[in-house]
Amino acid sequence: MSSKYNIVSLIRKKRDQKSLNADEISYLIEAYSNSEIEDYQMSAFLMAGYLNGLNAEESSALTYSMLHSGEILDLSHIPGVKVDKHSTGGVGDKLSLILAPIVASAGVPVPMISGRGLGHTGGTLDKLASIPGFSTDVDLTRYKEIIEKHGMVLAGQTAEIAPADKKLYALRDVTATVEYIPFIAGSIMSKKLAEGIDALVLDVKVGNGAFMKTTEQAIELAETLVSIGEHFNKKTIAYITNMHQPLGKAIGNWLEVKESIDCLKGSGPSDTNILSHLLSGTMIYLGGKADSVDTGIEMSRKQVENGKAFQKWVDIVEEQGGDISYINDPKKYPTAGFEFELLASRKGYIQALDTFSIGMAALELGAGRKIISDTIDPTAGIVLEKKIGDKILKGETILRCYTNKPAMIDIVTEQLFSAITIGNEKPATEVLVTHISDSQGTRAFEL
Ligand code: URA
Repeated sequence: MSSKYNIVSLIRKKRDQKSLNADEISYLIEAYSNSEIEDYQMSAFLMAGYLNGLNAEESSALTYSMLHSGEILDLSHIPGVKVDKHSTGGVGDKLSLILAPIVASAGVPVPMISGRGLGHTGGTLDKLASIPGFSTDVDLTRYKEIIEKHGMVLAGQTAEIAPADKKLYALRDVTATVEYIPFIAGSIMSKKLAEGIDALVLDVKVGNGAFMKTTEQAIELAETLVSIGEHFNKKTIAYITNMHQPLGKAIGNWLEVKESIDCLKGSGPSDTNILSHLLSGTMIYLGGKADSVDTGIEMSRKQVENGKAFQKWVDIVEEQGGDISYINDPKKYPTAGFEFELLASRKGYIQALDTFSIGMAALELGAGRKIISDTIDPTAGIVLEKKIGDKILKGETILRCYTNKPAMIDIVTEQLFSAITIGNEKPATEVLVTHISDSQGTRAFEL
């Protein structure tokens, strides 16, 4: 087959710090989607791009080509302002499972297309896959049918929706090329702009468990995402949120589904509840059902209190083939074969958690993938009993681990011990949300 460009020349160009034009980027994305370029060649290009950078023209050509690698859905026949939310990736981040049913039950349609876990971070698709029978593999006709019927849908990328991102996402995951703003922005926005939304809320994570390690980087990513959204006429609001420790207590696929059920029933960890109500409240506001974010937050709380959000969750699980007996009675879910605890070696306060290492430990226990073809163990993961600022006594449980890989127990125990710092002083409280970014710019945010 004759090709428009020589792929090796394009890799060489990026390797040698030269820029590619929009046509070359578009060829690269299209040819990779059509399997005319091998994974090893795309890996080399990604690494060259990661190390040498993409300029503004290359970055927007990347997003544009990824978006146009598939269909852009038109949901205008469905009444209402369609709103979605996307996170840039964190540890223990199960918010999508909580806020989609809250927002849909408040009358705002939520068409949601999610991805698998990436690196040390979890993915909504993997969490949903832990529900027996649940299918995120819906074609476009079914996608539209489900959203029309329930006001929400939870889908994976079909062959039609940003297929280039689907392939690239999996490749970046296993080639250490995730943490680069143009790649993240292109990946998120190509999916989101294709799914038929009118508005978008973004949760940009910052901290030692996020892809963005500093507030400056997170603001840069938030502003990039907002400007792409606004460029495509989608009202976009981003929050910069804390990932210096896992969100909530549970890390691991079914463990997180279970925790999200608690939140939908009005219990669950307070950080998870606060953040999910902020994001749902913002979605309800953007969806035109509240005249301010604060009113949206009140409505979001009400949807949990009156049981409508949980009922919406049960309905959608059933519609997408999931066994609702596990949602109604999570205790009946099988547990991992091995459970072990990490006990404090001294008394004091939890001063810091190395969230990246905790995410990697969960992956080693079976909750994530090291190579594209790895299968995930839905029962594997970690439940934190203590978080930053909590007082702890010598011998008290810091966290519990669940796995079916007994060979990993000693390795992970050691890894987790070095991920936890206990000291004498109570540390400053971790702030959950620091900034908001929208078409007006970025400013400090107080909850
Ligand atoms: N989420 C995505 O969808 N893509 C990324 O690259 C990172 C987080």
